[in-house]
Amino acid sequence: MNVILLGAPGSGKGTQAQHICRALGVPQISTGDIIRSAIREQTALGLEFKSYADAGDLVPDDLVNRLVDGRLAQCDCAAGFLLDGYPRTVAQAGWLDAALARHGRHIDCVISFEVADALVLERITGRRTDPATGRVFHLTFDPPPIEIMHRLVHRADDTEAVLRRRLEEYSEKTAPIVPYYEARRLLRRVNGEGAVADVKRRVLDALGIEEAASV
Ligand code: AMP
Repeated sequence: MNVILLGAPGSGKGTQAQHICRALGVPQISTGDIIRSAIREQTALGLEFKSYADAGDLVPDDLVNRLVDGRLAQCDCAAGFLLDGYPRTVAQAGWLDAALARHGRHIDCVISFEVADALVLERITGRRTDPATGRVFHLTFDPPPIEIMHRLVHRADDTEAVLRRRLEEYSEKTAPIVPYYEARRLLRRVNGEGAVADVKRRVLDALGIEEAASV
């Protein structure tokens, strides 16, 4: 199954992606993670990405499309994949459809997480990632064990000022993707508010997956 997760920053895409990938047995392709790892490794592309990501701006389509093209060609994507944070513009969505069609593939389902902006702000400013495991915590909603507190990372773009810019980018450039997939009858809207387990149940329902298959 080929799935796209759509939603504003902090809407829960990354958290739910891990559950869905386990249930479907497909890899998670997070363009944000790929971009952050290029920035950390200070590759030439990484240096270019940094100025966009630090400001909360989207990276230009052609650069991201090339990243995704290379990733989808890897053999672990042959039986399906989950895209988290891509596509982010209607142009990226059109490019993806054409690239998949060249290999006789297509998107099966697009999950759109619906979350109020005020909640997004609360989630993002308290978000911390464990670099050792990739696990994402929240200081209030999902507190990390005290012994790993020292190694947790607060993303450079998870500040209130940058988040406001990311939300603007989302409503201007990414939200228009919703009607694009709605017209293709691929879109499933999911309420992304509430406990992680409740959202997970809604997402699995939307995908038609039994809860037991995801454990
Ligand atoms: P994320 O972790 O998905 O919030 O992405 C973090 C940052 O990476 C974004 O604010 C953008 O600068 C960049 N980025 C990630 N995915 C994309 C994409 N599909 N198109 C353009 N920029 C992206």
